Amino acid sequence: MDKLWAPWRQTYVTQLIGKTKKCVFCRIIKERKDKKNFIFMRTKYSFAVLNIYPYNNGHVLVMPFRHVDDLDKLQEKELVDLMNLMTACKKLLQKVLGPKGYNIGINLGRVAGAGFPGHVHIHIVPRWPGDVNFMPVTADIKVISQSLRTLYERLLRVQKKKV
Ligand SMILES: [Zn+2]
Repeated sequence: MDKLWAPWRQTYVTQLIGKTKKCVFCRIIKERKDKKNFIFMRTKYSFAVLNIYPYNNGHVLVMPFRHVDDLDKLQEKELVDLMNLMTACKKLLQKVLGPKGYNIGINLGRVAGAGFPGHVHIHIVPRWPGDVNFMPVTADIKVISQSLRTLYERLLRVQKKKV
C-alpha cells in the first residue's frame, strides 16, 4: 500500500501551489474549461476530475466545490452529494475500464500524504491484478496526457449513453 499512496505526496497540485499560491482546484472550478482540465462530472456541490498525474489508469479525484480542508466542515447536503458523485464515478469507471478492485481514500493533512491539504478530495484508484508498475517515475508525461485525453472522451461518451 505504501507504494500506492506515496506518489500522491507529489502531485501536480503541490507544484502549482508553489507557483501560484492559489488553490488549483478552485481555479479549475471557476475556469469553466472542463475539457482542458479533465473535469468530467459536475453536480450541485461537487465535481470529478482525472488526476493528471495518475498512479493508475482511471485515477479520479472527487471533491466539493467549496474550499474546505476536512469533510467535517461540509454540510450534510454537500456530504451526500459528494458520496453520490463518488459512487457514480466508480460505476462509470467500472463500465469504461472494468477494474477488478479499487482503492478509495482521503489523505487529510500533509503528514498523511496530502499533496495539497487545503481542499479536501477523495482519490478513486481502479486496480487490476499486477498493476503496481503502471507509471514508473520516468514515464513520459506526453504519453500520459494523451492517454488521459482518450480516457476523458470515453468517460464522457459512456456517461451520455447512460443519461
Ligand atoms: Zn480550493
